[in-house]
Amino acid sequence: MVRWQRQTLNADDGALPGLERAGFVRSVQTPEFEGITFHEVLCKSALNRVPDSNLPFSWTINPMRGCSHACRYCFARGSHEYLDLDAGADFDSQIVVKTNVVPVLRRELHKRSWRRESVALGTNTDPYQRAEGRYRLMPGIISALTESGTGFSILTKGTLLRRDLSLLTSAAGQVPVHLAVSIAILDEDLHKGLEPGTPSPRARLELVRALTEAGFAVNVMVAPVIPYLTDSNAHLDELFGAIAEAGAAGVTAFPMHLRGSTRGWFLNWLAEAHPALLRRYRQLYGRGASVTPEYSAWLRGRIEPLLEKHRLNRERQAEPEVRAAESHTPDTQLALFA
Ligand code: SF4
Repeated sequence: MVRWQRQTLNADDGALPGLERAGFVRSVQTPEFEGITFHEVLCKSALNRVPDSNLPFSWTINPMRGCSHACRYCFARGSHEYLDLDAGADFDSQIVVKTNVVPVLRRELHKRSWRRESVALGTNTDPYQRAEGRYRLMPGIISALTESGTGFSILTKGTLLRRDLSLLTSAAGQVPVHLAVSIAILDEDLHKGLEPGTPSPRARLELVRALTEAGFAVNVMVAPVIPYLTDSNAHLDELFGAIAEAGAAGVTAFPMHLRGSTRGWFLNWLAEAHPALLRRYRQLYGRGASVTPEYSAWLRGRIEPLLEKHRLNRERQAEPEVRAAESHTPDTQLALFA
């Protein structure tokens, strides 16, 4: 209770027009989340239809917009601009929370027209980012999907998922549940620079271990691979070895894409942290969002023997995130890592 009394409410702070369109109710700042502002909104719908019918899921749920995990390479940054917020620091610190997502979802799942197609969480922003500790939206979402007979997948970097492990285990006894964890970097210093708001790589490996011990076949997204920073044989070998040791069923890896606002945000960091690499990045990406086909082929050639070595290429075809990541366009791939 004390915690809630110490928060600051800015209900009349002149919300941006984009937030008004999203159903803005109030903005909240609280000492437990220093530097972060939560913008609480009332959503009109919870289920988003995925237009690409080739994907292994037809629907997504995104309980929040923006992500305090603050990955420099995050593909979703540009989506904040639709809210009249910026794709850099605002994306990391101005978090839009759909506080009514659970009742709206229940209403949608009860419709006679609902066909119980698979639903994906973690395709845009991370549902287990820090805000979930405050708003506790996921238990209601998991329960609503399970009770309606709807299978689902979750992709996350958030170790907070452990809080809901018994609920997820129970759900998996009733509907298909796929869990995937994203671990792109093992080096602690690089992790702090590139993913400053995320739990440490070691903590995420422990999450993989806990989920495996609970009976899940966990896929790990080694995505993105950062050219010249995480693509060495030594780094990938050590990372894959640690993932295998944690019990993961499989790994999916692909190189970093830099599109839209993400490109500038990432390259600004690179210019400060690794200025010597800027020229090589210009050569690798040119003016586009993707690495050259030659680099992609080279990386694949490096990764495949390591997957074999660590026995991480098994069971992958069973995982919806993996099938989608491997068989679709780069843009679709981007939508698949949290
Ligand atoms: S990549 Fe995922 S975890 Fe990182 S900021 Fe984006 S949504 Fe959050």
